[in-house]
Formats: sequence, C-alpha cells, structure tokens
Amino acid sequence: MPPVAIDSIRAAQRLDSRGKPTVQVEVTTSDGIFTAIVPSGASKGDYEAIELRDADSEAFGGNGVLEAVQNVEEVIGPALISHRVDLTAGLKEIDDFMIQLDGTPDKSGLGANAILGVSMACARACAAARKVPLYEFIAREMGSDTRGYTMPVPFFNVLNGGVHSGNAMSFQEFMIAPTGAKSVTQGIQYAAEVYQELMSLLIEKFGKSSIGIGDEGGFAPPISQPSEALDLLMEAFQRSGHQGHFHIGIDPASSEFFKDDAYDLGFKASTSNVKTKGEMADLYHELIQRYPIALLEDPFAQDDWDAWVAFNQTCQVELVGDDLLATNLVRINKANEKKACNALLLKINQIGTVTEALAAANKAFELGWSVFVSHRSGESTDPFIADLAVGVGCGHLKSGAPCRGERVVKYNRLMDIEDSLIAQGQQCRYPGEHFRAAAMAPVHRG
Ligand code: PEP
Ligand code: MG
Repeated sequence: MPPVAIDSIRAAQRLDSRGKPTVQVEVTTSDGIFTAIVPSGASKGDYEAIELRDADSEAFGGNGVLEAVQNVEEVIGPALISHRVDLTAGLKEIDDFMIQLDGTPDKSGLGANAILGVSMACARACAAARKVPLYEFIAREMGSDTRGYTMPVPFFNVLNGGVHSGNAMSFQEFMIAPTGAKSVTQGIQYAAEVYQELMSLLIEKFGKSSIGIGDEGGFAPPISQPSEALDLLMEAFQRSGHQGHFHIGIDPASSEFFKDDAYDLGFKASTSNVKTKGEMADLYHELIQRYPIALLEDPFAQDDWDAWVAFNQTCQVELVGDDLLATNLVRINKANEKKACNALLLKINQIGTVTEALAAANKAFELGWSVFVSHRSGESTDPFIADLAVGVGCGHLKSGAPCRGERVVKYNRLMDIEDSLIAQGQQCRYPGEHFRAAAMAPVHRG
C-alpha cells in the first residue's frame, strides 16, 4: 500500500447542539478532506481530560475555543506534518505523537478538544488511506476480526432529567433499548414508535407544555420520581404494542447530586430529599425488581468507592462506570482492583484521543467487562460514534432520543452501516438481549 501523507490540518470554531462553541478539524490528504467535530459534556466527571475554553467573558460567556483552534493550526498541525506520518500505518503513531507534544497527563497543555478533533479527523483519513470504512479501520486498530460485525443495540434516552433538563427529576437519563428487535433498523423503528406514543401519553397526562425536550432529545415532563418515569415508559411500551420488546437503562449521573456523603434527590426541586448510600442502593434494588432494567450507569458518585463496591456484590444488571472511570486506564485498573463495576462507558472526549479510547475498551474486555459507547450531551452532526460502536463491537451504544439531528445522525449512520454490510453479504449480528456479551462473541474477538 503506497504511503499517504497529511497535506494540511485546519481548525475552526463551530457550534455544538447547545449553541456553545466547539472545535472542528479538517485534515487534507491526497484522498480528500476529512472533517470531525468535537463533543462536550454537561455532567462532566472530575477525571476527564481538559477541554480548553478561552475564559474571555466578552465572547460566548467565556466558552470560546479559539485557543484550542489556534493550537491545532499553529502547533499540532505543523508538528504532525513535519513528523511525516504515513496514514496507512494507522492512528497510534499520530495519537502518541500528540500526547508527547502536549506533555501533560490530562491534555491541558494543548487541550483535549484540540487533540481529539485531530485524532478523529485523522482516523477518517487513515481509513480512507487504507480504503476501508471507518468502522472497519477502528476494528483493525482494536485488533479485532473484521470478517463479521456485531451491531450495537441502541439505548434511547427518551426521558431527560438531571442537569440536562429543567424539570425536577434528579435522575438524568431513562433509556429504552429494543432488545426484542431483530436488527438495528427494526430496533430504531420500535423505539421511534414508543417515543411517539410517549409523546401522546404525556400530552394526555400533563398537557402540551410537557413535551418540551431536554439536551438529549428526551421529554422532560413535570415528574420527579424515578418510578413515575418508569411507569410512563411501561405504558408507552404497552400502548405502542411493544411490550416485551424493550429493556431499560438508567443513568442517574449521581455525581451531580452527591453532597456531604449523601445523595439529594431533590437537588432540582424546591425542597431537598436526602438519601444515604444504603437508601440509594435499596431504591435501585427495588426498581430493578419492579421494572425490566438491564443497565445502571453512575448510580453512585465518582469517588464514592465504598458504595460502588458494596452494590456490585449483589447487582444483577450491567453496572456501568462513566464519571467513575472517565475512559481512563488508571481509573479502570483501580475499579478492577476494588471490584467496583462491571462495564465501561466509552466517551472519546473523556480521554482525548481515539487510540486511548480503544485501549480502554480493550482493557475492559480483557477484564471481562462490557463496553457501552456514548455520545455527550453537547453533540454535533458528526456520526463518528456510530462507526466507533460497530468497530469496537461492544453490542450497545447510547446517543439520546430518536429526535434532534445531532442524535438521529448516529442512528441513521448505524442503519446505513447495517444496510451496506448486508448488501456485501458480510456477517452482521444484532445481539438483542445479549448486548453485554457481544464483545466477547467469537465473530468479533477473532
Ligand atoms: C452522561 O452522563 O452519560 C452524558 C452523556 O452526559 P454528559 O455528556 O453531560 O456528561
Ligand atoms: Mg453518564
């Protein structure tokens, strides 16, 4: 394969789905121009890589990213070009080079938003240099067998709370997963039907003003109790004819309401409702008994290790670390030593390069954990994570509701990938209720 060089790297300040500035990167090679846009979280963990914000209160309330843009154009781009990387050799050398150039453990030197934009755009350029789709390039970087693919079960966040919405619901995400579907395309149809039914139900119960949506496209009705949200979902499943076709995932994002060693479920309401760790564990156990819950993410705060460890001993469902792990090998190893969880939430901007995110996924698989690919609440129309989920072969992905362009672009890309794999006669498996075991299936781990 003839070598392919980077001809130029450009960056620009663009907007994310919350109307806040973010970094766009364009990498030009002899194969074309490859673009990527960086996402950004709201319920960020303390252990995430640092995104640079300009702190110039005159522009975007201090949220500008012009310094990160400048770092791409004046530091990273020229250094990478003069380093003469060959894109057919893969992404690792590029990402390792940027990590060295930044020289800090949390990417605060050049900014994780600058570095990640280059990493994502270069991943696309590398895939083109090798003449393969992005998901296949990612699978190869993972060291996986590319003779067949496991598609992800999509987890749709249809009821938004926490810091993603303006209602009094403390729990951030109530996700529905079409585990009873036969394909991604059918699963997306089922979920879109439930979503529409949920909208009608909310209008009936609370009036039209209740169907406003949160940051991830889910509704944010005037409810505050987790059981109220779950009852609404059960009714929407039934009324849409999809009873039995879905499991549920919950992300309380509990670091947001952890204070003084306890959890305040009333943190968005007019009165507080403080629960001990034990009471939180009891609440989760009760919900798991009553509803078809298959996944719990960040039920406890990022440094509340004792609560995680105790809960993991009896937890019957997938227990996902988001803020807890921050897609970071140091945190993953610590969680493994303590036996604190059994799954990794994979967010590329928490760590700042695609290569490190893939290493985190491989580490999680090695530990016998599952991996759940995730968007951020501040997203763009870049569908990168759809290819990531297929390439990693982790069997499930979350990208918000079947609503809002920056969310559906990922689901639409999944259907495109599924169609093209089927058209090529490639193996393309939808794992359904076995979404956790997907990554360990022989088809993918070769
Ligand atoms: C999450 O907590 O899983 C999430 C997607 O939210 P954010 O991007 O705001 O961290
Ligand atoms: Mg989370």
